[in-house]
Amino acid sequence: MNTLPATRYRIVPLDPRSHLFEVRCSVAEPDPAGQRFRLPSWIPGSYLIREFARHFVSVRAESGGATIAIEKEAKDLWRAAPCTEPLTVVAHVYAFDFSVRAAYLDAARGYFNGPSVFLCPEGRADAPCEVEIAAPQGVAYRNWRVATTLPRAGAAPWGFGSYRAENYDELIDHPVEMAAFSLTSFEAGGATHDIAITGHVHADLDRVARDLRRICQWQIDFFGAGPESRAPFDRYLFQVAAVGDGYGGLEHRSSTSLVCKRDELPAPGMARLTDDYRRFLGLASHEYFHSWNVKRIKPAAFVPYDLGRENYTRQLWVFEGVTSYYDDLALVRSGVIAPKSYLELVGQTITVVSREPGRHVQSVADSSFDAWIKYYRRDENTPNAGVSYYAKGSLIALALDLTLRNRGASLDALMRELWQRYGRLGIGVPEDGFEAIAIELAGADLATFFARYVRGTEDPPLADLLGGIGVTVHWRTAASESDRGGKAGGGSETDGDAPRRWLGARLAGGATVTLQHVLSGGPAEQAGLAGGDVIVAIDGVRASVDAIEKLLRRRGAGDVLAVHAFRRDELIVTELTLAEAPRDVCWLSPEATVDEETRARRTAWLGNDPAVRPATT
Ligand code: ZN
Repeated sequence: MNTLPATRYRIVPLDPRSHLFEVRCSVAEPDPAGQRFRLPSWIPGSYLIREFARHFVSVRAESGGATIAIEKEAKDLWRAAPCTEPLTVVAHVYAFDFSVRAAYLDAARGYFNGPSVFLCPEGRADAPCEVEIAAPQGVAYRNWRVATTLPRAGAAPWGFGSYRAENYDELIDHPVEMAAFSLTSFEAGGATHDIAITGHVHADLDRVARDLRRICQWQIDFFGAGPESRAPFDRYLFQVAAVGDGYGGLEHRSSTSLVCKRDELPAPGMARLTDDYRRFLGLASHEYFHSWNVKRIKPAAFVPYDLGRENYTRQLWVFEGVTSYYDDLALVRSGVIAPKSYLELVGQTITVVSREPGRHVQSVADSSFDAWIKYYRRDENTPNAGVSYYAKGSLIALALDLTLRNRGASLDALMRELWQRYGRLGIGVPEDGFEAIAIELAGADLATFFARYVRGTEDPPLADLLGGIGVTVHWRTAASESDRGGKAGGGSETDGDAPRRWLGARLAGGATVTLQHVLSGGPAEQAGLAGGDVIVAIDGVRASVDAIEKLLRRRGAGDVLAVHAFRRDELIVTELTLAEAPRDVCWLSPEATVDEETRARRTAWLGNDPAVRPATT
C-alpha cells in the first residue's frame, strides 16, 4: 500500500498560438533541505537522449502563497529553497514537436508525453499522482476532447478534468491527446480498444476497427492461448494523428501514439487492401505487439529505467527486430492480408537490408548497444557503417523461426516462454536470456546461429531456409531509384526493360540532385563524390533525377561520364565510370508444386498456403 502523499499535477494549454503548456507540480511535504525536481532526458521506446528540459521556457516555485527561490543544479534538475508548506513548481513548456516523442500544441491539436512535461520530485517517484488536465480557454476549443489511458479520477469519459496514476512511472506512460478527434472502438481479449483519429480524415473507420480487431485478437491469443487468452490490460487506445506526410509510432503499456499519412487510412467504399493501408496496419500491429515485447517483456537493463542517461542493452534487435518480424506476420496469420502480400513485404525488407554495405560492418548486437549515438542519428555514412536492428533484426527473427521450425520448435514458442518466464512476472530478461531459451528449445549448437548472425555480421541463410519450406528467393537489379523490391518487376520506365547501370549512390531531389548516400566501393565513391554533394551536370547535361534515370539506361557499364558537382560552394569536376547494377533487389515466390510435408510446414508458418489463390483480397 502506497502511503506517500500524492504528487499533484495540473497541465493547461496556456496559449495554442505560442505553443505553451503551463505545467504545475505540487508536493505536500517537500524535502526540508530543499526539494529537487528532475525531468527525464529520454522517453522509453525511443533510445536517444532528447534533453526534454531544453523546452522548459521558465520555471518558478511558490509555497504558502509566496514565491520562493528555485535554481537549476544540472541540465535536467532544479532545486527549490527549503520550505515547510506545500510546494508548487510552475513551468511553461514550449510544445511544437509533431512526433510521437514529445509534446505539441496549436489551435488544432494538443498532445503530450509525460516525460517531456511532468517533473518528478526527487524521492517521490513511488508516490501516487493526481493529474488535472484543463481545457484551453475559448470557443474555438469547445469540441476538443481528451483521449488517454490515464485512469479517470472524476473526469467524464473523453473529458477534461481529473486523472490519476499509481506512481511517476505510470504517469509518464500514458500520452494525452486533446483535439476534436474521431472515435471508433472494438472489443478483443476482454478489453475495449478505442481508436482516436485527429486530422483531416475521411476514412472507413469501421473497416479500420474490423481489421485491427482481428490483428489484436490474434496477438492476444498468440501470447495467451487457452483460458488465459486475455489482453494484459482492461483498455487499449490507438491515438492516431493523420497528416499529409508522416510516419511513426511509439508504444506504451496500454496505448500507442501513431503518426500516419491520411491516405494510408482506407477510403470509404474501398474494397481493396492498398499498399498504403497495409503499411498503416503494419505500424499499428507493430506497436500493439510491443504491449508484450518491450513494455512487459523488458531487457533487464530497463528494469527500472534510468531516465537520466543511456540504458545500454545488446538486445534491442530482440525487442524491435522480433517485433518487426511479427508485425507483418500478424497481418497474414490473422487473415487480414494474403500470404502473397506478406511474401512481398518480406522481399522488401530483404531488399532494404541487402542494399546497405554496413550490414557487414556492424552486428545487430552492436547496433542495439549504440542505438543512443547511431540509430537515431543517421547521416550520409550510415548505410556504409551501420545496420538497422529493426530491419536486419526482423530477418534474423525470420531465419531463427525457420531454423527452430526445422527442429520441431518455433519462435512463437520462444516468445511465449519469454512471456511466461519474464514478462508476466515483471522480471527483466538478462542479456543472454533470449539465446538461452532458444538453445533450450533447439539444442546447444544454436549458439553458432547467434555468434554468426547476431554478434557477427554474416547474412542469415534465408534462401536455404525459405527454400526448405517451398518459397524461392529471387534477385534482380533495381528498375528505378524508387524500386522497393518485393515484386518480380519494378514498374514501367520510359526505356522499358533496358538494363540500368549503377552510380553507387542514393539520390534525393527532383530538379536538383543531392547525393544522399555514397555507397562504399561504388562508382560515385571512386569518383571522389560524397554524401551531401549537389550534382549540377552529368555527361554534359543539366542534372535532374529524371535525367540521370534516363542516362543510367542509355549508357553502358564502363562508360565514363563527366560530373560537375558542388560541395558546400566549391565546384568539383570529376569523371565517373558507370558500373553494372548489383542484383540487390529481392522478391519471393511460393513454389506451386511441393510435397505434402513442405506444404504443411509452409502453411503452419503463414497460417495459409500462399500457392492457393485466396477467396478474398
Ligand atoms: Zn518498435
